[in-house]
Parts: sequence; C-alpha cells; structure tokens
Amino acid sequence: MELNICHLYPDLLNVYGDLGNILILKYRAQKRNITVKIHNISLNDEFKMDDCDIVFFGGGQDFEQGIVSPDLMSKREAIKDYIENNKVLLAICGGYQLLGKYYTTPEGEKLQGLNILDLYTDGGDTRFIGNTVIYNEEYNETYVGFENHSGKTYIGDLKPLGKVIKGYGNNGEDGYEGCIYKNTYCSYFHGSLLSKNPELADRLLSAALSNKYDEYISLEPLDDSIELKAKEFIINRETKKD
Ligand code: GLN
Repeated sequence: MELNICHLYPDLLNVYGDLGNILILKYRAQKRNITVKIHNISLNDEFKMDDCDIVFFGGGQDFEQGIVSPDLMSKREAIKDYIENNKVLLAICGGYQLLGKYYTTPEGEKLQGLNILDLYTDGGDTRFIGNTVIYNEEYNETYVGFENHSGKTYIGDLKPLGKVIKGYGNNGEDGYEGCIYKNTYCSYFHGSLLSKNPELADRLLSAALSNKYDEYISLEPLDDSIELKAKEFIINRETKKD
C-alpha cells in the first residue's frame, strides 16, 4: 500500500514543531510497510485532490497567514471537494483558522478564510499559551498538547476534537478544543499533536487507507508504551490538584 501526504505551505506555515505530524504519520505508516510520499504545495501551486491521501495544514504567525490567505482562494474549490469527499485533513492553529470563514488579527485586519468549515476566529487581547489536556467522549481518548494563539475560534455546531480538561482550547470560554468535520481534524495543539497522541495518528492513517483502497483497513498495533507513559505523566502533572 502507498500513501501520499500533502503538506500545505510548508515554507510559510510550520511553527512549534508542526512538521512533526508528518514525520509521525510517515514513521507509523512505514512501520506497517506502507510506502509514503510527501508532496509540498505552496504559493501558486495547484492543489489536486487525487494527488493527496492526507493533507496537513500547519500553524503560523499572522504575517504568514496574511500571505497564504489570498493564495488559498485559487485552491478553494479543490480543497472543498477534498474535504466533502471524506478525505483526511489535519489542520493546526493557523491552518485551522484559515479553514473557517475568517480570522481577524488583534490589530483588526480581517484575513479571509476558505469558508469550508462553519467557524470563525476573532483575535483576542490575551495569548493562550500552555500545556493542554482534552477528552474526546466519542473515542474515549485523552489528548495532550501545547497551545499558543491569540485567536478565539467559535465552532458553532461542529463537533469539538475534545472537551478541555486543562488549558484554554478554542476560545477560553466554551470549553471546547479543535473540531472534527467528516475526516477533517482541527486543533490548536502544537508540539506536535500526533507525536504525543499516537492513537489519533493511527485514526488518520486508517481513514486515509480505507478511503484509498475502498475497504476498511485496520492497522497492526505498534508498541506505543513510551508515548503512552509520557502522556500519562503529562496528564498527571497538568491535572493534579495542589
Ligand atoms: N496567528 C494565529 C494566532 O495567534 C495562529 C498562531 C499559530 O498558528 N500558532 O491565533
């Protein structure tokens, strides 16, 4: 089997180790003898739905988001088709914000988003920085990560990636972090999300393979004892009552 992973704007949107998400997907796929090809797509490049099995859209500063926003418009229809066709996409922070209607920076500049997901982001006065722990009820999984954003995202009726146990999440108000729409997963977690949460990495791989090969494909488990021990340590440290 083979997987094509497309990295959107790797030269502009790639902060706090977000690239690690691609490295983890590649590593975990190769451990199952799946061949992985990585394609970079940036300014003025064409986005072709059939070339990608997993798309990664990382985080970035407001300045870089301002460069990416106008370029996205020429890719909008293809990315929308990709998402609506249940294909797998992972978006972090700045990329997450740009899938929505708009992101208004703290200085008041309104950056147009792709308007594919029914969400929007307002720049706030506070930067939400720190370690975060969330719980996803549907999968009964706990995810840990590190957030650093001033944007406050409101996801309306979309499903959250998880409920906040520790940290700020989407906006510091409603107790939600990230969102899920079809096979599009969004989060504010840097650091990177998938290295700390291997079960989520496998969910993306399995969904991408099942789409591509038109049958449900489950993956052989890997030895994640070190990752899970590290996660348990973080959960205990971050949620321990003094
Ligand atoms: N510029 C955005 C914000 O501060 C996104 C930051 C990021 O991707 N880390 O909200």
